[in-house]
Amino acid sequence: LDRSYGESQKNKRAKVLVNPHSGKGSAEKWYHRDIEPLLKAARVKIDMQKTEYRGEAIEISEKLDIEAYDMIVSCSGDGLPHEVFNGLGKRPDAKKALSKIAVVQLPCGSGNAMSCNLNGTDSASLATLAIIKGIPTPLDLISITQGQTRTLSFLSQAVGIVAESDLATENLRWMGAARFTYGFLVRLLDQMMYPCDIAIKVAIDDKPSIREHYRREQNNHEPASERRGYKHLLDDDASASSGNEDGLPPLRYGTINDKLPEDWEVIHYDNLGNFYCGNMGYMAADANFFSPALPNDGFMDLVTIDGDVSRIAALRMMFAVETGKFFDIPLVRYRKVLGFRLTPRNQADGYISIDGERVPFEPFQAEIHKGLGTVLTK
Ligand code: ADP
Ligand code: MG
Repeated sequence: LDRSYGESQKNKRAKVLVNPHSGKGSAEKWYHRDIEPLLKAARVKIDMQKTEYRGEAIEISEKLDIEAYDMIVSCSGDGLPHEVFNGLGKRPDAKKALSKIAVVQLPCGSGNAMSCNLNGTDSASLATLAIIKGIPTPLDLISITQGQTRTLSFLSQAVGIVAESDLATENLRWMGAARFTYGFLVRLLDQMMYPCDIAIKVAIDDKPSIREHYRREQNNHEPASERRGYKHLLDDDASASSGNEDGLPPLRYGTINDKLPEDWEVIHYDNLGNFYCGNMGYMAADANFFSPALPNDGFMDLVTIDGDVSRIAALRMMFAVETGKFFDIPLVRYRKVLGFRLTPRNQADGYISIDGERVPFEPFQAEIHKGLGTVLTK
């Protein structure tokens, strides 16, 4: 039996959060039917709590006794893990908490990108098996500054067609995942444009170099036993001796309220159709927007697309997302970046999505922190 765990930790201790509001409202049913029996069979120590309001997972994670748990498991969409990262990030010992506690999603929502990327599936039971065998692995996290706030993003930042398709279709929740596709198609056919000023700290600018970077990083993939999180778990003293109480790392490029760094590329983008920045490849089960993305290469993958491309070209792009060939389309401008600033123009109101959650339609800045968070994956 012991060997069936492979290299993963046995008897993991889980703070389990179930969001009864996720997806079509079935999270609780799925938890009891597909998730809990497997966790119990694997002797995971379970402490389950249903979230009662938006933002509660932030509070729970901020106050959690991190010595008593190995992971926080969200039975939800991507909204709850977003809150969990932010709760851990608010602690005085944020750095330690984010490296000690693995943040896990078991897919029960309408957007389950985290599980698609890290568990390789959006089936709740298969994902449960994956996390039972999962190995702690670092994940890049992104600091977002907007107004006077600083928050963490683990998945994506979107302005334009993708943000609207996701956020402006809340009323179509009953459609499940299809609401994204529907919202996307409607706006695509309208050739919607979202004029913005953007500034980018570019790391890799052209597709051949991005391909090469991806190949090199894939080959350097650390074996499970070499990863930070794994060593950390094997050696109980490691966490005690490292015992630092540091909060979040300082911002290298300042905040949205500071002067723009001089070496950032500035684009006055009048005909922007889609600004989409991702930290992992899949944004849904069949939506591989960022095929060269790596969860801890220290870069965000940034896609920009003009809003005035022909409808036929736009439809072709949409189908290429499903087949994983999106990256290769010439109309898809692709960069690896370390940071960016986005300032919307000429629009009274619109949609900005951070990890699928709506934030105010105001300028914001992003910068990446390599391997700041911890997740479970194979
Ligand atoms: P989905 O993928 O279906 O959107 P999420 O898990 O991402 O599902 O959840 C959506 C939002 O629900 C999150 O922003 C979260 O804060 C919020 N939430 C959590 N618990 C509750 C609750 N009890 N009632 C209402 N909203 C909640
Ligand atoms: Mg990356």
